[in-house]
Amino acid sequence: MSEMTAGQIRYCYACCQQVPGRATSCPACGTLQPPQPELSASERHSDKLIVAALLLCFFFGWLGLHRFYVGKVGTGILTILTIGGLFGLWPLIDFIVLIFGAFTDKQGRKLTRWT
Ligand SMILES: [Zn+2]
Repeated sequence: MSEMTAGQIRYCYACCQQVPGRATSCPACGTLQPPQPELSASERHSDKLIVAALLLCFFFGWLGLHRFYVGKVGTGILTILTIGGLFGLWPLIDFIVLIFGAFTDKQGRKLTRWT
């Protein structure tokens, strides 16, 4: 295993406990872990754009449109039902998270592209 992947956080596919990067088996349940395949750029990063999500979040965040945009339909509907998740609190948090490039799409891929 290379130094690059050694620090990665992995989770046991059997019990979902955190597995250290170098471990070949789960410290919690002992299940042998499959080797981590190298992810391509398109698998690690979302193809959705931060700018688009930011604009949707800013103008229609209370409708959860930015969440629909990245495929998070469930939490998008939840945002509408709760009127922007406690009156605009969720969109505000999402807005900040988006700016810092930590917002993820439905597949858990980070939105890293601005344009
Ligand atoms: Zn385990």
